[in-house]
Amino acid sequence: MALTAIDIYKLLPKTNCKECGQSTCLAFAMQIAAGKASIDLCPTASEEAKEKLSAAAAPPLPKVTIGTGESEVVLGDETVLFRHEKTFYHPTAIAVSIRDDAPDEEFASRLAAIRRLSFERVGQRISVDLVALRCASGDAGRYARAAAAALDATGLPLVLLAPAGPLAAAVESVALSRPLLAPPPEDLVRTAKLAAERKLPLRVRARGIEELSAALADSRAAGAAALVADPSPETAREAVSFATNLRRLAILGRVRDLAYPSAFDLGGGFPDPFLAAALLVAKYGSLLVLDSADPADLLPLLTLRQNLFTDPQRPIQVEPGVYPIGGPSESSPVIITTNFSLTYFTVRGDAEAAKVPAHLLIADVDGMSVLTAWAAGKFTGESISKMLAECGIGEKVSHRTLILPGMVARLSGRIEELSGWRVLVGPQESSALPSYLRRLPPAAFLPVHG
Ligand code: SF4
Repeated sequence: MALTAIDIYKLLPKTNCKECGQSTCLAFAMQIAAGKASIDLCPTASEEAKEKLSAAAAPPLPKVTIGTGESEVVLGDETVLFRHEKTFYHPTAIAVSIRDDAPDEEFASRLAAIRRLSFERVGQRISVDLVALRCASGDAGRYARAAAAALDATGLPLVLLAPAGPLAAAVESVALSRPLLAPPPEDLVRTAKLAAERKLPLRVRARGIEELSAALADSRAAGAAALVADPSPETAREAVSFATNLRRLAILGRVRDLAYPSAFDLGGGFPDPFLAAALLVAKYGSLLVLDSADPADLLPLLTLRQNLFTDPQRPIQVEPGVYPIGGPSESSPVIITTNFSLTYFTVRGDAEAAKVPAHLLIADVDGMSVLTAWAAGKFTGESISKMLAECGIGEKVSHRTLILPGMVARLSGRIEELSGWRVLVGPQESSALPSYLRRLPPAAFLPVHG
């Protein structure tokens, strides 16, 4: 449990010497409780106080890093059970597997396919994060060469799914890329020693929470520090149950022995792997390994992940302003919508599909969708009229006709009254925009005079 300011105050020297920059020890305790100061600033704090406060300040779910540099993947390091309590920091990492016994040409083309699993959506890039290399050949040399080739071809961090022998051989060639070592349960302790020696992360796999707890203890005893826990479920339902229990024990129970990011291998015949993956993206899977490299399987999963891991306090938004669509002229339609990224890209895509050049006005509503912004009082007759007057659209077009989203048709009268622009009510849904724009008569955008 987090310590209160009073708990912290009881651990301080209580001399009010001010060396920490605060006027009293109690004021300093309040700063620490609020996460704004560290006990290191108090030169006379006891070792006991330092130890207790450091332990209390440690994140309930430790951070484990796989890979290095730009492609580094961070697992764990979460502080809450539900996104609305604060935010989630690290999206579920997704690895696509490849077998080391595939013929050379097939191996290379699958790596190329994995590399292509990267898509642009609402202005962000969503991609597969890692390559999971399955040792199917049993040949240590071949596995090591395959690991080097996978790293070279994709630049993505590796999950090395292999027995201890091939795994040790692969570590020799790719250790600097900080792969995740993922041995079978029978090779755990041997690999844990290797992980400790090379300071590499280790996936610990055992069936169920109790066996996992024992395996994690064995790994710690062997010196491995960066651990990822795989409870080895057999069904999607069991996977979600294990993942939820592990996360609750870590965040609510502060059970340190089980507080590790989780990993799930959903390949190798796991039933309904994409059902399980979708559930685990929502419920506490830190790392998922999948066998399919089909974009039709991966894109929905990456989209779901993007939606769930967007910080609700900081919606993805685009710059407000006037955006040209297809080389518009002074007689082109003027469409308005809000600066929520998903709204912008949807409306923009639909307007482009119409092949009718237009001016797209993006209103600054702190990244909210049209209806949310209207309900929050940020997309109003007043704010839209102000934008029409100030954004410069009046100089770009010779007419004074605005297309308003159909969902806020009720704003038309107020906009017309305040701005002098005529309002045409557009469709309720953006998907109807192409046919709507194509049907508009040119007379709707005649120049105004005087
Ligand atoms: Fe109290 Fe330590 Fe701050 Fe001095 S430096 S006021 S003892 S907390």
